[in-house]
Amino acid sequence: MRVLVINSGSSSIKYQLLDPVSGAVAASGMVSRIGEPVEPGATTVEHESDGRTLEHDGPIPDHAAGFRVVFDLFARSGHDLTGEGLYAVGHRVVHGGEVFYRPTLIDDAVVASIDELSALAPLHNPANVIGIESARQLLPGVPQVAVFDTAFFHGLPDAAKTYAIDAKVAVTHGIRRYGFHGTSHEYVSGRVAELLGRDASAVNQIVLHLGNGASASAIRGGRAVDTSMGLTPLEGLVMGTRSGDIDPGIIAHLMRTADFDIDAIDQLLNRNSGLKGLSGVNDFRELQRLIDTGDHAASLAYEVYIHRLRRYIGAYLVELGEVDAITFTAGVGENSPQVRADALAGLTRFGIAVDPDRNTAKDRAARYISPPDAQIPVLVVPTNEELAIARAAATLVT
Ligand code: ADP
Repeated sequence: MRVLVINSGSSSIKYQLLDPVSGAVAASGMVSRIGEPVEPGATTVEHESDGRTLEHDGPIPDHAAGFRVVFDLFARSGHDLTGEGLYAVGHRVVHGGEVFYRPTLIDDAVVASIDELSALAPLHNPANVIGIESARQLLPGVPQVAVFDTAFFHGLPDAAKTYAIDAKVAVTHGIRRYGFHGTSHEYVSGRVAELLGRDASAVNQIVLHLGNGASASAIRGGRAVDTSMGLTPLEGLVMGTRSGDIDPGIIAHLMRTADFDIDAIDQLLNRNSGLKGLSGVNDFRELQRLIDTGDHAASLAYEVYIHRLRRYIGAYLVELGEVDAITFTAGVGENSPQVRADALAGLTRFGIAVDPDRNTAKDRAARYISPPDAQIPVLVVPTNEELAIARAAATLVT
């Protein structure tokens, strides 16, 4: 049984063909720089299958062209997607608004609703819709399922999801905290419960998803009770290129005094802020290299990143009261022992500690990094959003 998982972004398409039961990946790849001019000979599509990498060079004018190249590469690598064997296509959809809170079988009405939600996620939902439409055209007989990044946070308590702004304005414009990365928070928190050997309904936990985008969640008995992202994925932690929390007064100030229009504000906060805005680089490994050369801006960026992270950890400890696990996941969370150690330094009196040997062990599996006698276990659990989406899609289609 195989499911094709598609994550169609504004200028990229990531995909995986995998078995939703075993998690075995048959093929995976990425189309990048869609709609951008590229220098001659530049690789824009990389496709991995059975240990081999196939590449496509040259510009990809739009998503439909990207999907055609991907389907060609599948055929060339011996996986005929249009033939038998494809059970479902699972699409990652960023914003499900108030409408979608569970995996949903896609039909014309669902596509129209996801498109309508573009007002809430102008950078994401339109690209998701294009991905869905291309896949429906190229694979007409295969059931397609949308899995929403907001779904896990649909039931946030009112106090956590409500912004303290004029209630009429909020209701009229759908302004509330929705949360994102839900597929990852749900998958990782489920794995944590398994590792603890307890039912998810009996575990209170904090999950720190630290990738290019970053978010924290507080989960009580399997249900999310708070998360750091809000109406959009801009709120919360310091990210690769996004600011996370700022004083909203900054926006009015820049518009009033510095001639920023709304596009310039969007560009500033989404693309030129966070680690990149502070240090010039958004990739954590490059940031670490700069810090090692004595670069002060990079060190400050790191300190701001850790400061914000600790603030959220503190908030969620208090919100939950009783905490059974704290877990790091995603690119930075899984790979940076320094971030994990600094995020939880000096908290032994709260029963929280990171064991230096366990923390720096070269191990890619889900594992404990707290000392064996720790009151609150600290873990690293690799996220796997593709597998979670494939499972959700397969379950719905069965
Ligand atoms: P995305 O949000 O794009 O899915 P990922 O979860 O892949 O992001 O995380 C990407 C981030 O993880 C980058 O900042 C990258 O530098 C960081 N990262 C990956 N490997 C390492 C590593 N070995 N050490 C530190 N950071 C790493």
